[in-house]
Amino acid sequence: MDLAATGSDIERVVVTEEQIRTRLKELAAQVEADYEGRELLVIGVLKGAVMTMADFARSLQRHIETDWMAVSSYGSGTKSSGVVRILKDLDRDILGKEVLIVEDIVDSGLTLAWLKSNLESRGTKSVEILTMLRKPDAAKVDVDVKYVGFDIPSDFVVGYGLDYNEKYRNLDFIGVLAKHIYS
Ligand code: IMP
Ligand code: MG
Repeated sequence: MDLAATGSDIERVVVTEEQIRTRLKELAAQVEADYEGRELLVIGVLKGAVMTMADFARSLQRHIETDWMAVSSYGSGTKSSGVVRILKDLDRDILGKEVLIVEDIVDSGLTLAWLKSNLESRGTKSVEILTMLRKPDAAKVDVDVKYVGFDIPSDFVVGYGLDYNEKYRNLDFIGVLAKHIYS
């Protein structure tokens, strides 16, 4: 779905479809160089990272393994609770694997900090993080995010996988949700 079709729900565009595509190619080239000659397991975090995972994985010009996890940290509101639950775990053992977590957004960083240490505790060789978006608050948490698509302001954003009450995931761009939608 493009901007013209969204009516008055989006206040402003933060990242366009074109910018996403270009940036993912750059990140893919970086990952290819960093993991040259090594096997790589790319783990997508459901559901927000579905679009990023699909486009990033296809931008990679190398073989990878993929798996998915689903975690919940938000409930239905717009604030992170810090309480993380595993809704769907990995299908396979990751002992000795080099893992790249693919996320949609790092806000408070609580979800990723938890997820990274959870995966590390399973005996992985390495765990790095790729996120499409990063908000300013992420700097306050001690979680090292190696690959970042775009640093954006703190506003609540939707689109390209990101939702508000399961809506707006199918936008082909990322935009700030208009205040009248949630207040
Ligand atoms: P964190 O724990 O605060 O870093 O938040 C992590 C999760 O909250 C992300 O993976 C998203 O699913 C969700 N989230 C954070 N900020 C936003 C936003 O602006 N729009 C939609 N979802 C968000
Ligand atoms: Mg998420």
